[in-house]
Amino acid sequence: MNRNRNYMQLLAFLFFVCTMPSVLPAEEISDIEKDLIRNGLVNIQSIDPTIKVELKYSTEDNFLGEDVYGDLTNCYLQKEAAVKLAKAQKFLKEKFPEYSLIVYDGVRPRRIQYKMWDIVKGTAQQGYVANPAYGSIHNYGSAVDLSIVDGEGKELDMGTPFDYFGDLAQPRYEKKFLKEGKLNALQIKNRELLRDVMTKAGFIYISNEWWHFNAFEKDAVKKKYKIIE
Ligand SMILES: [Zn+2]
Repeated sequence: MNRNRNYMQLLAFLFFVCTMPSVLPAEEISDIEKDLIRNGLVNIQSIDPTIKVELKYSTEDNFLGEDVYGDLTNCYLQKEAAVKLAKAQKFLKEKFPEYSLIVYDGVRPRRIQYKMWDIVKGTAQQGYVANPAYGSIHNYGSAVDLSIVDGEGKELDMGTPFDYFGDLAQPRYEKKFLKEGKLNALQIKNRELLRDVMTKAGFIYISNEWWHFNAFEKDAVKKKYKIIE
Protein backbone atom coordinates (compact mmCIF):
# COMPACT_ATOMS: atom_id res chain seq x y z
CA MET A 1 0.00 0.00 0.00
CA ASN A 2 2.71 2.38 1.12
CA ARG A 3 4.85 1.40 -1.83
CA ASN A 4 1.92 2.02 -4.15
CA ARG A 5 1.44 5.50 -2.81
CA ASN A 6 5.13 6.27 -3.29
CA TYR A 7 4.82 5.03 -6.84
CA MET A 8 1.82 7.30 -7.49
CA GLN A 9 3.67 10.25 -6.00
CA LEU A 10 6.61 9.55 -8.26
CA LEU A 11 4.34 9.38 -11.30
CA ALA A 12 2.66 12.67 -10.33
CA PHE A 13 6.06 14.27 -9.87
CA LEU A 14 7.30 13.04 -13.25
CA PHE A 15 4.09 14.25 -14.92
CA PHE A 16 4.60 17.67 -13.31
CA VAL A 17 8.25 17.88 -14.41
CA CYS A 18 7.51 16.76 -17.97
CA THR A 19 4.66 19.21 -18.51
CA MET A 20 6.44 22.19 -16.90
CA PRO A 21 7.10 24.90 -19.44
CA SER A 22 10.80 25.21 -20.13
CA VAL A 23 12.07 28.08 -18.00
CA LEU A 24 15.25 28.53 -20.02
CA PRO A 25 14.59 29.86 -23.51
CA ALA A 26 16.68 28.15 -26.15
CA GLU A 27 19.78 30.29 -26.52
CA GLU A 28 19.93 32.18 -29.78
CA ILE A 29 23.07 31.22 -31.67
CA SER A 30 23.66 32.98 -34.97
CA ASP A 31 24.58 31.01 -38.10
CA ILE A 32 28.08 32.49 -38.08
CA GLU A 33 28.60 31.23 -34.51
CA LYS A 34 27.17 27.80 -35.37
CA ASP A 35 29.73 27.62 -38.16
CA LEU A 36 32.57 28.47 -35.73
CA ILE A 37 31.36 25.79 -33.30
CA ARG A 38 31.30 23.26 -36.16
CA ASN A 39 34.94 24.20 -36.77
CA GLY A 40 35.80 23.28 -33.18
CA LEU A 41 36.02 26.79 -31.73
CA VAL A 42 34.53 27.75 -28.38
CA ASN A 43 32.84 30.84 -27.01
CA ILE A 44 35.41 32.08 -24.49
CA GLN A 45 32.65 33.01 -22.03
CA SER A 46 31.62 29.34 -21.91
CA ILE A 47 35.09 28.67 -20.45
CA ASP A 48 35.16 31.75 -18.21
CA PRO A 49 32.00 33.89 -18.02
CA THR A 50 33.84 36.62 -16.05
CA ILE A 51 35.92 37.67 -19.09
CA LYS A 52 34.39 40.75 -20.68
CA VAL A 53 33.86 40.85 -24.44
CA GLU A 54 33.29 43.84 -26.68
CA LEU A 55 34.04 42.87 -30.27
CA LYS A 56 35.04 46.19 -31.82
CA TYR A 57 34.51 44.96 -35.38
CA SER A 58 30.92 44.11 -34.48
CA THR A 59 30.36 47.84 -33.83
CA GLU A 60 31.12 50.99 -35.79
CA ASP A 61 33.64 51.99 -33.09
CA ASN A 62 36.69 50.77 -35.01
CA PHE A 63 39.14 52.22 -37.49
CA LEU A 64 36.97 51.08 -40.42
CA GLY A 65 33.94 52.94 -39.05
CA GLU A 66 31.88 49.91 -40.13
CA ASP A 67 30.35 46.87 -38.46
CA VAL A 68 31.99 44.06 -40.42
CA TYR A 69 31.11 41.23 -37.99
CA GLY A 70 27.30 41.54 -38.05
CA ASP A 71 25.83 38.67 -36.01
CA LEU A 72 29.19 37.71 -34.51
CA THR A 73 29.10 39.38 -31.10
CA ASN A 74 30.66 36.65 -28.93
CA CYS A 75 34.37 35.96 -28.92
CA TYR A 76 35.39 32.55 -30.25
CA LEU A 77 38.84 30.98 -30.06
CA GLN A 78 40.40 27.56 -30.44
CA LYS A 79 39.73 25.71 -27.19
CA GLU A 80 43.40 25.64 -26.10
CA ALA A 81 43.64 29.40 -26.60
CA ALA A 82 40.41 29.97 -24.66
CA VAL A 83 41.71 27.85 -21.77
CA LYS A 84 44.92 29.92 -21.73
CA LEU A 85 42.85 33.10 -21.69
CA ALA A 86 40.87 31.86 -18.68
CA LYS A 87 44.22 31.25 -16.94
CA ALA A 88 45.30 34.83 -17.69
CA GLN A 89 42.03 36.11 -16.21
CA LYS A 90 42.69 34.01 -13.09
CA PHE A 91 46.24 35.42 -12.73
CA LEU A 92 44.87 38.96 -13.16
CA LYS A 93 42.16 38.45 -10.54
CA GLU A 94 44.67 36.98 -8.08
CA LYS A 95 46.51 40.32 -8.22
CA PHE A 96 43.52 42.65 -8.64
CA PRO A 97 40.20 40.90 -7.88
CA GLU A 98 38.16 43.83 -9.25
CA TYR A 99 39.95 43.96 -12.61
CA SER A 100 38.96 41.97 -15.69
CA LEU A 101 40.30 41.27 -19.13
CA ILE A 102 38.21 42.83 -21.90
CA VAL A 103 38.47 41.20 -25.31
CA TYR A 104 38.19 43.33 -28.45
CA ASP A 105 38.78 40.61 -31.05
CA GLY A 106 39.34 36.87 -31.28
CA VAL A 107 38.77 34.65 -34.28
CA ARG A 108 38.34 36.63 -37.48
CA PRO A 109 36.99 34.44 -40.30
CA ARG A 110 38.97 35.00 -43.49
CA ARG A 111 35.92 36.07 -45.51
CA ILE A 112 35.64 39.02 -43.08
CA GLN A 113 39.35 39.74 -43.44
CA TYR A 114 38.71 40.04 -47.21
CA LYS A 115 35.89 42.48 -46.48
CA MET A 116 38.22 44.60 -44.32
CA TRP A 117 40.92 44.39 -46.98
CA ASP A 118 38.47 45.72 -49.58
CA ILE A 119 37.61 48.70 -47.37
CA VAL A 120 41.23 49.75 -46.73
CA LYS A 121 42.70 48.88 -50.15
CA GLY A 122 44.30 51.94 -51.68
CA THR A 123 43.96 53.99 -48.47
CA ALA A 124 46.58 54.98 -45.88
CA GLN A 125 45.27 52.18 -43.64
CA GLN A 126 46.14 49.40 -46.07
CA GLY A 127 49.36 48.67 -44.18
CA TYR A 128 47.43 47.92 -41.01
CA VAL A 129 45.29 45.04 -42.30
CA ALA A 130 47.02 41.72 -42.90
CA ASN A 131 46.71 40.52 -46.47
CA PRO A 132 44.05 37.80 -46.32
CA ALA A 133 45.87 35.80 -48.98
CA TYR A 134 48.49 34.82 -46.36
CA GLY A 135 46.14 34.53 -43.39
CA SER A 136 46.67 36.04 -39.95
CA ILE A 137 46.72 34.17 -36.64
CA HIS A 138 43.29 35.72 -35.96
CA ASN A 139 42.04 33.75 -39.01
CA TYR A 140 43.08 30.54 -37.21
CA GLY A 141 41.27 31.49 -33.99
CA SER A 142 44.57 31.60 -32.12
CA ALA A 143 45.12 35.33 -31.53
CA VAL A 144 43.34 37.72 -29.22
CA ASP A 145 43.20 41.52 -28.92
CA LEU A 146 42.45 42.71 -25.42
CA SER A 147 42.92 45.16 -22.59
CA ILE A 148 42.09 45.43 -18.87
CA VAL A 149 39.14 47.19 -17.20
CA ASP A 150 38.85 48.24 -13.56
CA GLY A 151 35.97 47.53 -11.15
CA GLU A 152 33.87 50.27 -12.77
CA GLY A 153 34.38 48.81 -16.23
CA LYS A 154 36.74 51.63 -17.23
CA GLU A 155 39.70 50.63 -19.36
CA LEU A 156 43.11 51.11 -17.78
CA ASP A 157 45.20 53.81 -19.43
CA MET A 158 47.41 52.00 -21.93
CA GLY A 159 48.80 55.15 -23.51
CA THR A 160 46.84 54.70 -26.75
CA PRO A 161 43.44 53.28 -27.61
CA PHE A 162 43.05 49.83 -29.19
CA ASP A 163 43.90 49.83 -32.92
CA TYR A 164 45.87 53.08 -32.64
CA PHE A 165 48.04 53.08 -35.71
CA GLY A 166 51.30 54.71 -34.77
CA ASP A 167 54.58 54.10 -32.99
CA LEU A 168 53.09 55.01 -29.60
CA ALA A 169 51.19 51.69 -29.62
CA GLN A 170 54.35 49.68 -30.18
CA PRO A 171 55.85 47.98 -27.10
CA ARG A 172 59.32 48.04 -28.73
CA TYR A 173 59.48 51.86 -28.32
CA GLU A 174 58.10 52.11 -24.78
CA LYS A 175 61.43 52.95 -23.10
CA LYS A 176 62.14 55.66 -25.66
CA PHE A 177 58.66 57.21 -25.27
CA LEU A 178 58.95 57.05 -21.47
CA LYS A 179 62.22 58.99 -21.67
CA GLU A 180 60.66 61.52 -24.03
CA GLY A 181 57.61 61.89 -21.76
CA LYS A 182 55.19 60.66 -24.46
CA LEU A 183 54.18 57.68 -22.30
CA ASN A 184 54.09 57.83 -18.51
CA ALA A 185 55.18 55.19 -15.99
CA LEU A 186 51.58 54.19 -15.15
CA GLN A 187 50.71 53.57 -18.80
CA ILE A 188 53.72 51.30 -19.14
CA LYS A 189 52.93 49.58 -15.84
CA ASN A 190 49.41 48.85 -17.12
CA ARG A 191 50.77 47.35 -20.34
CA GLU A 192 53.25 45.32 -18.32
CA LEU A 193 50.43 43.96 -16.18
CA LEU A 194 48.60 42.80 -19.33
CA ARG A 195 51.78 41.24 -20.76
CA ASP A 196 52.59 39.64 -17.42
CA VAL A 197 49.28 37.79 -16.97
CA MET A 198 49.09 36.85 -20.65
CA THR A 199 52.62 35.48 -20.96
CA LYS A 200 52.27 33.64 -17.63
CA ALA A 201 49.24 31.92 -19.19
CA GLY A 202 51.30 30.93 -22.24
CA PHE A 203 50.58 33.70 -24.76
CA ILE A 204 53.24 35.39 -26.85
CA TYR A 205 53.22 39.18 -27.18
CA ILE A 206 54.30 41.06 -30.28
CA SER A 207 56.48 44.13 -30.52
CA ASN A 208 54.15 46.37 -32.54
CA GLU A 209 50.69 46.22 -30.86
CA TRP A 210 50.26 46.29 -27.07
CA TRP A 211 46.78 44.67 -27.34
CA HIS A 212 47.64 41.66 -29.55
CA PHE A 213 48.69 38.23 -28.24
CA ASN A 214 49.21 34.88 -30.00
CA ALA A 215 48.37 31.60 -28.29
CA PHE A 216 51.17 29.81 -30.19
CA GLU A 217 53.97 30.60 -32.65
CA LYS A 218 52.71 30.98 -36.21
CA ASP A 219 54.29 27.72 -37.45
CA ALA A 220 52.68 25.76 -34.62
CA VAL A 221 49.31 27.40 -35.34
CA LYS A 222 49.52 26.40 -39.01
CA LYS A 223 50.33 22.81 -38.08
CA LYS A 224 47.62 22.52 -35.44
CA TYR A 225 44.69 24.31 -37.09
CA LYS A 226 43.22 25.34 -40.40
CA ILE A 227 42.11 28.80 -41.44
CA ILE A 228 38.50 29.58 -40.57
CA GLU A 229 37.17 30.68 -43.93
ZN1 LIG B 1 45.22 41.32 -33.18
